[in-house]
Amino acid sequence: MKFNKVLETIRTYEAGKPIELVVREFGIDAKDVVKLASNENPIGTNPAIAKVIRSNADIAHLYPDDSMFELKAALGAKFSVGEKNIIIGAGSDQVLEFISRALLNEETSILMSAVTFAMYEIYARQMGAQVIRTKSWEHKYDEFIEAYEEHKPKIIYICTPNNPTGDATEREEVLKIIEAVDQDTLVVVDGAYMEYAAAKDAKYAITPKDLLGYENVIYLGTFSKAHGLGGMRVGYGIAPAGLIGELYKMRPPFNITTLSLCVAIEACKDNTFVEKSIALHQEQIKRYEVFAKEHGFAYIDSYTNFITYLFDDRMDSTEIADALLRRGVIIRNLASYGMNALRITIGTEAQNNIFFKHFSEVIS
Ligand SMILES: *Cc1c(COP(=O)(O)O)cnc(C)c1O
Repeated sequence: MKFNKVLETIRTYEAGKPIELVVREFGIDAKDVVKLASNENPIGTNPAIAKVIRSNADIAHLYPDDSMFELKAALGAKFSVGEKNIIIGAGSDQVLEFISRALLNEETSILMSAVTFAMYEIYARQMGAQVIRTKSWEHKYDEFIEAYEEHKPKIIYICTPNNPTGDATEREEVLKIIEAVDQDTLVVVDGAYMEYAAAKDAKYAITPKDLLGYENVIYLGTFSKAHGLGGMRVGYGIAPAGLIGELYKMRPPFNITTLSLCVAIEACKDNTFVEKSIALHQEQIKRYEVFAKEHGFAYIDSYTNFITYLFDDRMDSTEIADALLRRGVIIRNLASYGMNALRITIGTEAQNNIFFKHFSEVIS
């Protein structure tokens, strides 16, 4: 069968390896497997959320409220924006898909950092669009503007904090990039890890409201990371009403599930769980910084729930990742991004202990 030509340009997205695979392939007991690969919340799900899932189990036969009125009202109150400014997706991934389908075609391009979230490229290629990268993985104003002037991309992606590197871009720097591009280019500010950056340093905090004055900017957020709801698949885009109205044309009906909707509404009510997650994270990530220093390799200062370890020629990230996997420790190798580096989601104290033990053994 002949498939669309664009498929030849797409590499299938490789998700973090599931625990089941390690159990099957290496015969390790599931309870001994530590997964620090997909930036999931290590303390799990808020008990109040689990309760909402149980108590709504008997409405699983009903389609969700397709207006998502209650969730939009909750998000609107949380971020001080109007309901007309919000679109909900099955993860912010789905909002990225709406954006790509609404704006891209063979004549267009996207501009993104040299190393950033892989889905920007995949959705762009699906539409036949070109992918332009800046020279470095940091979001540098000069690099973005130089590439913007040369290629006039339809979309600029600013992932702050950035995945998979963990660094962030200051709010003033992001606003400077936005101010320098004209209205025909959409600037997407992907804040999937914003809760962590805002808690670490206010200079990096960007709210959807900060951006709402720009007709050509959309902010993306998700319940998957700090809220610990990756498995429920809920994310959102916040932008001026005109832009949201266009994206709505790409949305299938009932695009999140009835239970996901209940859960996301509940998650907006209380920030205690997020605060608790961040507090644990801030305490545990210090151990990863100390560990790197003690073992003589570099890391990127992280504004996210993961840390990226950088190696020189003496160490090979693929060898280390494979050796760790055989020991039941799943982390993310960044070799496919052209970096001799590993991305490790910060776990619980116990998970991190196991990681340090195996990692020390592997590299010695
Ligand atoms: C996790 C992530 C997302 C979206 O995740 P969803 O689970 O689809 O909401 C978007 N952008 C970045 C950079 C991410 O790391």
